[in-house]
Amino acid sequence: MLTTNPFEIFDPEADKLHEECGVFGIWGADKASAHVALGLHALQHRGQEASGITSFDGKHFHSHRAMGHVAGNFDRDDVINALAGSAAIGHNRYSTTGENGLRNVQPLFAELATGGFGIAHNGNLSNAMALRDQLVKRGSIFQSTSDTEVFIHLVARSSHDALVDRLIDALKQVEGAYSLVILTPQGMVACRDPLGIRPLVMGMIGDSTVFASETVALDVVGATFLRDVEPGEMIFVNEAGAKSIRPFASVRPRPCIFEHVYFSRPDSVAEGKSVYEVRKNIGAQLSREAPVKADYVVPVPDSGVPAAIGFSQESGIPFELGIIRSHYVGRTFIQPSAEGRGNSVKMKHNANSALIKGKRIVLVDDSIVRGTTSLKIVQMMRDAGATEVHMRIASPPTAHSCFYGVDTPVREKLLAARMDVEAMRQFIQADSLAFITIDGLYQAMGEARNAAAPQRCDACFTGAYPTTLTDHPAGASDVAQEQAMEDSFPLAANL
Ligand code: SF4
Repeated sequence: MLTTNPFEIFDPEADKLHEECGVFGIWGADKASAHVALGLHALQHRGQEASGITSFDGKHFHSHRAMGHVAGNFDRDDVINALAGSAAIGHNRYSTTGENGLRNVQPLFAELATGGFGIAHNGNLSNAMALRDQLVKRGSIFQSTSDTEVFIHLVARSSHDALVDRLIDALKQVEGAYSLVILTPQGMVACRDPLGIRPLVMGMIGDSTVFASETVALDVVGATFLRDVEPGEMIFVNEAGAKSIRPFASVRPRPCIFEHVYFSRPDSVAEGKSVYEVRKNIGAQLSREAPVKADYVVPVPDSGVPAAIGFSQESGIPFELGIIRSHYVGRTFIQPSAEGRGNSVKMKHNANSALIKGKRIVLVDDSIVRGTTSLKIVQMMRDAGATEVHMRIASPPTAHSCFYGVDTPVREKLLAARMDVEAMRQFIQADSLAFITIDGLYQAMGEARNAAAPQRCDACFTGAYPTTLTDHPAGASDVAQEQAMEDSFPLAANL
């Protein structure tokens, strides 16, 4: 029996790190909220549990936030029409930790001394608990358990008059990762933390300015990509045009390397690089670093596909779809009888047995998190008659938690934090197991890794976090730390 919960569909994507948010904003467009709904739809992979849109019609703000997918939340004309105005921001949320209720669904909104203030945030603050503690002691009343609300209280309490100055004042107090789109009566603000950990891009449709987590969202609304919002840059847009502000001292950027490995959609372009091409390069590099004799290269769908193509092209081993994914089942399914429950394993991903039988298989996947999924996939290949099953992973071993807006298990639950590669191979019962090296990963991105001063955040592989972790002091295990967080107040691990 491969599943522990008989009603849960076996889904290799479920045992993955998950990006927790996608953001989108547009200023100066007819039916702005309709554009935002389309943009959020293209960013659905960055957060599938809830979505929201806030619009401004020149006088009033309008908001609709709901649990569930974008298509279900914003597929009705009356919902979109009620979100009136030529400016709107939106947010997709994913969270399996912390509280998952409607009050945490973004955009968050508050009435401040400067007027209405709607905010959508991708990332996670690593000192949110400490700041929140201080703010509560000074009388702030929080409406959510989200770290994003800390921004609102810091802006509200700032002694500056102008909105942009208040915002700068607030941002200088936070640490961690943030890509923000903010909607106010004065204009729209987009900004990225000084390290640029999470992505944010800027585009245009006619005279309308668009901001999005990824370029794929620009494509879907018909916007032309203009440029990345630079790390540490704040862009203020209103009727007078767009103004770039650099409120922070310049530091070496550390954008998240995992965006290229797994989080971003392959049809996006991140930092000028095609995500699809980078993933193929990773597969090719992996093939050079860890060659193996086999009959077929088989991707673990869907995320392993580009790397598997690269592995196949470099090695000359034919690429085949040895695992077929059904797109017509959700994450759970009620079986008609106890006898039928075992089949739930095969409802979403099934081995292509006619192809696999009697063959040596190289499975290519993007990462190993807990390892339980890899074990099931290897078993599935053996049950289908594979004579050998070799596993190749398109990222280095994930041995550390992320505190910057990615849903990661506590460190003790990461397989690579507990085992070396040979022990991991035995755990997943593969004939061989290899990961791309950290230097090889940078190389696949066309960069030489500077180990002494890394040019990217690669902390989940190396443990070299690019910021201080005020809420996660050294010495406290992640388990102890998570428990402390839950005990003090259940701060949602970002929206
Ligand atoms: Fe990305 Fe990993 Fe850094 Fe998190 S810790 S920002 S997932 S590289």
